[in-house]
Amino acid sequence: MSWNERQRRMLAAMGVRLFAPAAPVAAAPSPAAVAAAAEAVEPVVPPDAAVIERPVEAIAAAPVPAPAPMRPPAPARGATSVAAAIETAIDPALAERAAHIATLAWGPLHEAVAACTACGLCESRKQTVFGVGHAQADWMIVGEAPGEQEDLQGEPFVGAAGQLLDQMLRALGLSRRAETGEGAEDDMAGDPARRVFIANTLKCRPPRNRNPEPDEMARCEPFLKRQVELVKPRLILLMGRFAVTQLLKSEDAIGKLRGRVHHYEGIPVIVTYHPAYLLRNLPEKAKAWEDLCLAKATADGS
Ligand code: URA
Repeated sequence: MSWNERQRRMLAAMGVRLFAPAAPVAAAPSPAAVAAAAEAVEPVVPPDAAVIERPVEAIAAAPVPAPAPMRPPAPARGATSVAAAIETAIDPALAERAAHIATLAWGPLHEAVAACTACGLCESRKQTVFGVGHAQADWMIVGEAPGEQEDLQGEPFVGAAGQLLDQMLRALGLSRRAETGEGAEDDMAGDPARRVFIANTLKCRPPRNRNPEPDEMARCEPFLKRQVELVKPRLILLMGRFAVTQLLKSEDAIGKLRGRVHHYEGIPVIVTYHPAYLLRNLPEKAKAWEDLCLAKATADGS
C-alpha cells in the first residue's frame, strides 16, 4: 500500500520525505488537521493561567502539609536502573513521602513539586516544570526532563523539540492549549478527546542537559504517578527511553517497544521516539507518525 495524498502532505509538513511506499497506518488526520500541520511553526504559547490547568487553584485553599526537605542519601551501590534504585534505596522517609504525594490533589501536588528538594537538581534548577495541558485530558504525553528553555519558562517542551511535538499534535487534531482565553482554539472546548496533558519524567532540569540519574528518576516518580492518577488519560504516549524506563520499567530500545500497546496501571501506553531524537534523525519521523496513528486508534478505542 502507498501513502495517500493527505498522509504525504502531513509527512511533508513534519519534514519527512518518502522515497518508497511505506507501511499502512491507522486513520489519517482530518484535512483541517493536515492543513494546520502544514502551517509554519507558531511560537509556543507561554505558560499562563489559561494554559496550565490548575483546577487546583480552587482546591488550593486546603492546607498542604509541607513536604519535609530531604537530602538525597548516597546512591544505592550497584544500582544501575530505576528499578534497582527503588529496590535498594530502602529509606522509610522516601516511602512515606511517596505515600504522601499519592494523596495530593492538583494544587498541593503543584506546590509539592515547586518546593521539592528530594534530589540535587533543586540546587541548579531555575524553576520546576510541573506540566501543562488539561487536567482531564484523554491523552497524556510524557517526555524526559526540562531543558534550558523549559527551565527558564516553567513549561515542558517549549524548545525546538517542543515545536515539533506541537506540530505532531496539531496533525492529530490535539493541542496543549486550554479552551478559554484570547487566541485559544474555541473548537477544543468540551472535547476531552482533543486535549493533552504534557509532563516530564523529571520536573527539574539536569545540569547541561545530562541524562537523568536513576536516583533522580526514582525520587521524581511519585509526582508523575500522581499526575497520571489525577488526569486518568485514555492513552499515555511515552517519548524517549527515560519516559519508558520510568513508567514501563523497561530498558529495551524504543525500536523494540514501539508498534504495540503496553499498559501502565491499566492505561494503554504507546512508545515512540523523543522529538529531539527525531530532529537529529529525520527519516525516523515516518515511524513516529505510525506510532501516533497507533496511539490515536488506541485512544479512540478502534
Ligand atoms: N525534552 C523533554 O523531554 N522535555 C521537555 O520538556 C523538553 C525537552
